[in-house]
Amino acid sequence: MSVWDRGGPPADYQPGSEIEGYLQAMAARDPGFELGSFLREAQGVFEDVTRNWSELDADASRPFMLPELWDAHREGIDAMRSEALRPVVEQLSVQDVRLVGAWLEDAWDCLLVRFTASSTDYKLNRKGKKVGDSSLRSWVEEWTFAKPMTDLTPASVPPGAHCPNCGAPGQGTVRCPYCGQLRTSGRGFREVWKAASIEELYTR
Ligand SMILES: [Zn+2]
Repeated sequence: MSVWDRGGPPADYQPGSEIEGYLQAMAARDPGFELGSFLREAQGVFEDVTRNWSELDADASRPFMLPELWDAHREGIDAMRSEALRPVVEQLSVQDVRLVGAWLEDAWDCLLVRFTASSTDYKLNRKGKKVGDSSLRSWVEEWTFAKPMTDLTPASVPPGAHCPNCGAPGQGTVRCPYCGQLRTSGRGFREVWKAASIEELYTR
């Protein structure tokens, strides 16, 4: 998972109070935003993109990324292909997801999410032979998710309301147990929030 590596951990992070202040200001103009749902959905994107990477499937991740990030992602996958290597990310498990930054940039809301995960990370060559250490390892990545500040995060419908997607009876859950979709009205989370950057911090 080193194709996006841009060096070591950042020297400094925003203080929690500044992040909190940004979220409050954003919530005033984006009432559908709720941190817990945002982090769950961000984790879903993280898991899907990581699995697509293991399948060398750049196109599958394209809808979740801003064009500049996707270009870099595709280049990394093309480089793997040209060496006839396939990265094998198995037993993916996310241990921790947290918000570590929030700021406005060119009228985009930017939220920095840190994922701590573990998986295998070896490669298979064209003969199907393992290249590298196949043991589980822990790794940390920080992803910036961004949306234009005028865009609205889809709001969850009230617990008792029918599912807006399939009409199933109301449930007190974020995701509908019948159709698997978010119980939100309007556009989906992934149509609004896009991955804008990915940085690998360090591995243990
Ligand atoms: Zn449903």
